[in-house]
Amino acid sequence: MPIDATLPYDENNIFARILRGDLPSKPVYEDEFAFAFHDINPQAPLHILVIPKGAYVSWDDFSARASDAEIAGFIRAVGKVARDQQLVEPGYRLLANIGGHGGQEVPHLHVHIFGGQWLGPMLA
Ligand code: 5GP
Repeated sequence: MPIDATLPYDENNIFARILRGDLPSKPVYEDEFAFAFHDINPQAPLHILVIPKGAYVSWDDFSARASDAEIAGFIRAVGKVARDQQLVEPGYRLLANIGGHGGQEVPHLHVHIFGGQWLGPMLA
């Protein structure tokens, strides 16, 4: 069920609980600003989620409230994960679902990284 991305941040959403270590995940990267882990229901041979450590629901929320350091750190982390996972040469896809029309289901900003095969012109 897609979320209303204009609602206040829910401290008990699934990704907040993963960040706190209250729920398990399969991490691939972590630094001061970001955490990356395998999606529980992969839609490609490699499907990683990268989330900012701060409490942000959506891209517009993040871009409006986060510090320049948080924004730069998050974007650098996405790039680092792609490099670490050897995705640069074959290519990969980034996706952020935002709010109802975007089909966002978890109310903590996340970027999907898909890779490992030709992904087609667009994901369904
Ligand atoms: P959204 O539709 O919000 O862009 O994507 C949410 C993603 O989170 C989905 O791809 C879903 O499989 C993934 N997901 C949901 N719950 C969990 C969980 O508990 N652990 C992990 N690793 N991924 C999850």
